[in-house]
Amino acid sequence: ARSDTRHFLAFYNSELSEWQREQNQLERELREALADGHFRLYLQPQFDGRGQLRGAEALIRWQHPQRGLLTPGDFIGVAERSGLIRPIGYWVLEQAADLLHGPLQDTCLMLSVNVSVHQLRDDDFLGHVTSLIRERQLAPERLVLEIVESLLVTPGVTSRLQALRRLGINLSLDDFGTGYSSLRYLQEFQVDEIKLDKVFIDPLQHQDDVPLARSIIALGKALGLRLVAEGVESAPQRQFLQKHGVDILQGYYLARPEPVPSFLDRL
Ligand code: C2E
Ligand code: CA
Ligand code: CA
Ligand code: CA
Repeated sequence: ARSDTRHFLAFYNSELSEWQREQNQLERELREALADGHFRLYLQPQFDGRGQLRGAEALIRWQHPQRGLLTPGDFIGVAERSGLIRPIGYWVLEQAADLLHGPLQDTCLMLSVNVSVHQLRDDDFLGHVTSLIRERQLAPERLVLEIVESLLVTPGVTSRLQALRRLGINLSLDDFGTGYSSLRYLQEFQVDEIKLDKVFIDPLQHQDDVPLARSIIALGKALGLRLVAEGVESAPQRQFLQKHGVDILQGYYLARPEPVPSFLDRL
């Protein structure tokens, strides 16, 4: 048994270091990608209940020289663990600001940007965003920062979130209802929008009513928040969400994430 354990540990260590090697390699490549400009901004259109284009969510992609176009699932984890999510996240914010300042200036479209916990823990984040708004002369009310619920809300993070809101920026609770403290967040800091997670509207593929989704919608409305539904994949889902007065719809049924030029063709 001792020798089995030893073999297992040897195997385990070699697997672990293999994994570690891959992570290190990926981290090096991420640094290069940032320096060489290999990230791409994709935009997934968002529509109101009448089907009018209202804005988009910015979703990052990595144009990898060998592996092709990668989605965040392939690299966000390493970006978070290595801290590289800060400069990467700032790159995304800058791209969004350039769009709002440039081609989207004469529209009233909104852009939503995902913000990671690490960015919010960073003392410089608020300063970055403030100078971005000033430099690009942005209308802050056209920018939405999407915050995921897994975020550990320290007093520092809460006050930073409130300061962002005072600047006029919109805050959105992403993946709403999937974390364990969704309701507590609503109590701890003010937000402008909640994003009803896909898991709550998925059942509409087989059922014609989903009391849980309906209740979350009612909650959002009672609190006077804007409601966004993500992961809309079918006509029945859209119908349900329209019927219950969800403000903004996003999902493959309406439009997939697309490169910026394709999005601009919609204008
Ligand atoms: P998320 O913020 O929940 O974004 C929604 C994800 O669902 C996106 O995946 C989007 O492409 C996908 N999606 C949209 N509509 C549908 C649909 O109808 N059906 C299905 N099955 N999926 C749909 P994506 O682009 O792979 O991004 C995955 C996650 O990566 C995002 O989840 C977000 O948490 C993170 N992410 C993306 N861009 C950024 C970024 O710039 N910064 C940070 N920190 N995280 C990002
Ligand atoms: Ca999001
Ligand atoms: Ca989401
Ligand atoms: Ca998600």
